[in-house]
Amino acid sequence: MKVHAYTVDGIPLIRQGDDLAGIICGRTHLQDGDIVVISSTVVSKAEGNLRPVKAISAGAEAQRIALGSGREPEFVQAVLDESEEVLLESPFLLVKRRNGYICVNAGIDRSNIEDGYLLLLPPHPDASARRLQDAIREKTGVDVRVMITDTSGRAFRIGQTGAAIGIAGIPATKDWRGTRDLFGRVLEVKNEAITDELAGFSNLLMGEGDGGTPVVVIRGLELGPANDNGIRELYRPESEDVILKALRETAKVRG
Ligand code: GDP
Ligand code: MN
Ligand code: MN
Repeated sequence: MKVHAYTVDGIPLIRQGDDLAGIICGRTHLQDGDIVVISSTVVSKAEGNLRPVKAISAGAEAQRIALGSGREPEFVQAVLDESEEVLLESPFLLVKRRNGYICVNAGIDRSNIEDGYLLLLPPHPDASARRLQDAIREKTGVDVRVMITDTSGRAFRIGQTGAAIGIAGIPATKDWRGTRDLFGRVLEVKNEAITDELAGFSNLLMGEGDGGTPVVVIRGLELGPANDNGIRELYRPESEDVILKALRETAKVRG
């Protein structure tokens, strides 16, 4: 198997209202079947998902959490505003975002933006991915698959990797269940999270700093057809999530 992947170079600093699809299409020649991976940072900048810290006033809960964690109350308030549930307050703020994504600080970023602003994640990342896919098709007639990523920590392991947070035209997983291994045994569990595998590699090419390379194109990888479930398919149903359950139990004991 041979796959080609590259960063789209020459992308400027993105501002609210920028035509991201146009900016990408003007800098690279996309082909049918390409997977266009875009960092959530630039999607959010283009969509204007930013908050000036000065305009945030922290409520009582944010003040309390901030006191216990040494964070800025306004930052904590912004995290709470993005979240439907707080799973852990300290040593880091782990929350469930309104679209089901569980992550630290609700994915709010302070890197790669101007001082004084908080960068939020796109509120509806599947819809953002779909819009970009449609816009690329309109501009070029080319059918690409789109993924939006964020850099994310992992439970149990040191270090961060890219994670998929929104997809369009990309199957969330590759289901091996029912197929056979080299020795003819039927695979019973393997449902490979290919979106996160692709996000991890793309994130490696993007980097985290001043590279200025928020877009990666992956070419030559055959992906099966996508359903319409989007990224939700990666989020473990609550009834099956023993770690989520344990976190809630801990919160109950403490709270
Ligand atoms: P995240 O992983 O989505 O939170 O994004 P990062 O802040 O880690 O940035 C990923 C890549 O995008 C890095 O190479 C950054 O330098 C780059 N990047 C971030 N914002 C911009 C921007 O506005 N324009 C350009 N050209 N690159 C950016
Ligand atoms: Mn981020
Ligand atoms: Mn990153």
